[in-house]
Amino acid sequence: MDVGCLFLDGCNYFQLLKKNSGFILCAELYRWLTTIQTPVVQPTRCIGNAGKLLLLKSAIDTAKPEKDADEKEKNNGGNSGIPFAKLKDGENIRLSPLVIEKMTKIAADYHTATGKTLTITDGDRTALEQAYMMIRQIRKGEIGLYTQKAAAAEVKKVYDAGRASQKSDEQIAQDIGRVIQNQMDSQGIFISRHLKKGGADLRSRDMTVKDLNAFKLAAKKHGVTVLKEGDHLHLQF
Ligand SMILES: [Zn+2]
Repeated sequence: MDVGCLFLDGCNYFQLLKKNSGFILCAELYRWLTTIQTPVVQPTRCIGNAGKLLLLKSAIDTAKPEKDADEKEKNNGGNSGIPFAKLKDGENIRLSPLVIEKMTKIAADYHTATGKTLTITDGDRTALEQAYMMIRQIRKGEIGLYTQKAAAAEVKKVYDAGRASQKSDEQIAQDIGRVIQNQMDSQGIFISRHLKKGGADLRSRDMTVKDLNAFKLAAKKHGVTVLKEGDHLHLQF
């Protein structure tokens, strides 16, 4: 049985997936064909460019095992140990037990609501890691997002002084790291929850408005605060 899809040359709506069989399916068509498995008709949401793509039923069948493997990995928790949540590749992301416990519940609810998985992009930070992050934020003009205004201003001052005396980024980060450590040790001020094992960041660029609402609902249910920060969601536990 032939399966028609209305796009090939650039679907504006869904990511294209190349399957083992060599056929190209969009993520939505793939999901639709392999999970709902109704008799094959044209998916109603595919309204991209008119195309030449014809998929055979056999291609769909060969795609199934791969989908099962993906699903299995997600259920195991992949590289995070949390089902339906993975860690961003190539980063040394550490999550505290509290974050893991709550994320396990939130990711499960999110998956039930959307069928999707979450990507965690940051977790616990040392003072020095926080310092490097804040240098990047200062350069992007994002230092204003900190609620600890005085502590953030202190960091900015050290950054400006370092620049004025032409220190390297490494030296400036060391200086800022010492200031952040001192804020924690002698004033009990944590400029970020990531410093006290109560923060995690999530990728948001792969979320639709509907996904985002489902996520916020799940987070609220489990007592986690969600803040939009630059290109990601910051979670406070
Ligand atoms: Zn964060």
